[in-house]
Amino acid sequence: MALSASSPSSSFLRGSFTPHELKAPWIHSVRLLDQCSVPRDSYSRKFLAKPICAEQKRSDSVVPLAATLVAPEVEDRIETKDYEKLAKEMEQASPLEIMDKALEKYGNDIAIAFSGAEDVALIEYAKLTGRPFRVFSLDTGRLNPETYQFFDTIEKHYGIQIEYMFPDAVEVQALVRSKGLFSFYEDGHQECCRVRKVRPLRRALKGLRAWITGQRKDQSPGTRAEIPVVQVDPSFEGMDGGVGSLTKWNPVANVEGRDIWNFLQAMNVPVNSLHSQGYISIGCEPCTRSVLPGQHEREGRWWWEDSKAKECGLHKGNIKQEEVAQLNGNGKHTNESDTVIDIFNSQNVVTLSRSGIENLARLENRREPWLVVLYAPWCRFCQAMEESYVELAEKLAGSGVKVGKFRADGEQKAYAQQELQLGSFPTILFFPRNVASPIKYPSENRDVDSLMAFINALQ
Ligand code: SF4
Repeated sequence: MALSASSPSSSFLRGSFTPHELKAPWIHSVRLLDQCSVPRDSYSRKFLAKPICAEQKRSDSVVPLAATLVAPEVEDRIETKDYEKLAKEMEQASPLEIMDKALEKYGNDIAIAFSGAEDVALIEYAKLTGRPFRVFSLDTGRLNPETYQFFDTIEKHYGIQIEYMFPDAVEVQALVRSKGLFSFYEDGHQECCRVRKVRPLRRALKGLRAWITGQRKDQSPGTRAEIPVVQVDPSFEGMDGGVGSLTKWNPVANVEGRDIWNFLQAMNVPVNSLHSQGYISIGCEPCTRSVLPGQHEREGRWWWEDSKAKECGLHKGNIKQEEVAQLNGNGKHTNESDTVIDIFNSQNVVTLSRSGIENLARLENRREPWLVVLYAPWCRFCQAMEESYVELAEKLAGSGVKVGKFRADGEQKAYAQQELQLGSFPTILFFPRNVASPIKYPSENRDVDSLMAFINALQ
């Protein structure tokens, strides 16, 4: 699909304000109401601008950039089939039209994920819509100096302040102290990416209902060939929690790399200086290198790994489920029972063996109630709830409620299906005090508050 860099759609003419001009007076007018405690009713959604609650503001003058003049009505439930239909309808739409639709639909509850590469085109498109918009970026701590300089350039060029997300310092410290600074060369990039990228992303997305990415079909024939322009996010949850609470917009899905570059040049958009050194795709410094003419851009990322494993976890839904099950942390093909990077790793989550959970299930007079997740580490829905489950376990530590996990795929699956009500992954069970049968958590909302309400209702 070719891009036209000349005439933006009429939506560009909708407002005479830039996002930067719009934000300050409006946001200051709602500052006192602009708290996470604002009731989530339709009235408040319609009239208030609301920040991501998942992160700190830099200062009083640094506020979410996308206060909306008229915030949109938000659907209570995202229907996958509705978005499949919308994706088909918008398949031929221009990136500008797709961006406009996304910003119109979600207002302050959507943000652009900016990596510091040619996805700066998304910011330019957002500006061209004339609508307010937000931008966030994952600062892994391992980016090239040129990328940090580029972030600063973009903030100044567009008059925006990028909402940076950082990894958890304790997790980074534990990883580096135990495995060193370059463990990804030895045992695959997933673990480091999980700590430095995926978990911070998950936190960011928990404050949103939709996000915008720069994914393109031509970036990776192995994993991105089928991405739609809009989809229900297959991996992450939005602020309402549960699978299906977040949509993902890919306005340049059908655009080829050379057309992105034509657009950037035509619009005189600043670009990362690494591009002039032969870099196309840009990520962390140790995991990105320049490519030669004719080489595919993804060959410059995690070049020591299998091409099917070249998703850092931010877009792991691109890897088909059966392929995920076949990939272990080294990108080597294996079966699902072999070594896959485990999840729910926390000192507050007890790992139950087969005999451990059998004992727990047999006890009729348990002295302590237990919450146990039956999971498979390769399952994207299990991965999606990892953050909230670990956080829940931390909250429950010392409360008298034990939190555990039981890996129920592979040879344990039949037992879990017959004895533990396993339907699909993840299945969450509550083993009450003094009651023999476990109670299955009935909801797909797997956020901390929902799980806590479930436990409190049964204690
Ligand atoms: Fe770690 Fe490399 Fe992933 Fe960056 S890209 S988070 S350095 S493994």
